[in-house]
Amino acid sequence: MNLNGKIAVVTGAAKGIGRSIAIALAEDGADLVITENVTSASDTAKTIEAIGRSALVVKADVSNPEDANRVVESCIEKFGKIDILVNNAGINKDSLILRMKKEDWDSVIGINLTGTFNCTKAASRYMIKQKGGNIINITSIVGAMGNPGQSNYAASKAGIIGFTKSIARELASRNVNVNAIAPGYIITDMTEALPENARNELTKLIPMERFGTPEDVANCVCFLVSEKASYITGQVIHVNGGMYM
Ligand code: NDP
Repeated sequence: MNLNGKIAVVTGAAKGIGRSIAIALAEDGADLVITENVTSASDTAKTIEAIGRSALVVKADVSNPEDANRVVESCIEKFGKIDILVNNAGINKDSLILRMKKEDWDSVIGINLTGTFNCTKAASRYMIKQKGGNIINITSIVGAMGNPGQSNYAASKAGIIGFTKSIARELASRNVNVNAIAPGYIITDMTEALPENARNELTKLIPMERFGTPEDVANCVCFLVSEKASYITGQVIHVNGGMYM
């Protein structure tokens, strides 16, 4: 995809899917603002710079609206515009409903769903003025299917789907495309935390018989933010090896 001259913000880009998305966007020509939370994103930044693109690292907790505003303001200050926002940062805190603590409910909704709202609100202001932009929200197969032990996570990800469709409708006339990507099971720290037998059982439910890679998701992002996808908005694209169809 040709993303030369585009400026992209990717949240949670220190590792996993966010890191792959940031690198893939850089490989296609974009300059980046990447956020880090606890884990340093300097390695991701070095990789982007080695490709020949710019990478500005901003420390931010996306659940905090002031942090989200600062990320976007830093992008405008350095690059003068924001073309692409990828709301990738996310966590899970799993337990069955009777054991789920209120704080685990709140933090998962606060980071996954409210974090997506915070960053989208901050970026939309500029995208509306620019009369153009692209927002990608990373949801999950679990937001579509549900999953025992993940009611907080599923609610946050299903919320992201409704949010995506609403903002797509709000911003379509301003030439801002808003889509969600729903990965299935992808090899990152998040799924490494699953016991091996659970990973084996899950693999049996995937027609392609393997977990996805972060690059499988990143490739989809690059397509959706390119000119080639300019008539696609308000959609949820599933990247899951056929696990949910
Ligand atoms: P990782 O745990 O590998 O990475 C998550 C990233 O989000 C980290 O960089 C983390 O930073 C960051 N993050 C966490 N909390 C915050 C916060 N409050 N503010 C800013 N950044 C934060 O997970 P994945 O790469 O697997 O997940 C990325 C996204 O993809 C998530 O939204 C996840 O829900 C989604 N997803 C993942 C799937 C999978 O199978 N892996 C499947 C479907 C969806 P730090 O570590 O420093 O806190």
